[in-house]
Amino acid sequence: SGAVSTDDLVAWIRAFRDAVAAHKDELTRLDSEIGDADHGSNMARGLDAVVARLDPAPATPAELFKTVGMTLVSTVGGASGPLYGTLFLRMGPALASAEQMDATALGAALRAGVEGVVARGKAEVGDKTMIDALTPALDAWDAAASGSAADAARAAAEAAARGRDATVPLVARKGRASYLGERSAGHLDPGAASATLLLEALRDTLAG
Ligand code: ADP
Ligand code: MG
Ligand code: MG
Repeated sequence: SGAVSTDDLVAWIRAFRDAVAAHKDELTRLDSEIGDADHGSNMARGLDAVVARLDPAPATPAELFKTVGMTLVSTVGGASGPLYGTLFLRMGPALASAEQMDATALGAALRAGVEGVVARGKAEVGDKTMIDALTPALDAWDAAASGSAADAARAAAEAAARGRDATVPLVARKGRASYLGERSAGHLDPGAASATLLLEALRDTLAG
């Protein structure tokens, strides 16, 4: 056990699609409070398009994540499409050079992806965005990466959920929610909620 296969990663993306579909109305409700009420429908539409392109399944992580990233960029729109697209487009090349997909290699790929999101969106922890879930998740992953990828994913999902919940009191400094200023406080960030679903889907997939 321990090694992560390309099939595991394909299963992760399918599980993320299923989780977003199950939480679509909730994500859109969150976005209705501090945005334009489309985050659930944006992500569900994009991930349905992604899954439609996974048959036949991609043979390598690089091929998988290129398909996922390019499809999200071209079908999601809004702020989250290019940001999630960048996350996946940066993950593929990072894994292409991995000798084996263990917890360390997968963590490094996730870090490359999140660094791409930061480079593109310029958000820092505390700005009330998906970064508030993703950055603590990465740190928790790295702290647990001497164990199995399943253990690292469990730690990362827990940290993501804590980061998501910690967005509630924050004033948004990036994206549409920032237009509300102080009125954005008291609401959970929809992108932090979908990013937590991404890590929870990985946890659930690797738990087998
Ligand atoms: P839009 O705001 O264009 O309608 P979505 O509703 O799909 O796009 O996505 C909104 C989410 O995108 C926010 O909840 C936030 O987490 C994330 N987001 C917005 N701007 C940024 C940014 N600059 N960096 C990181 N994440 C961002
Ligand atoms: Mg929106
Ligand atoms: Mg929008």
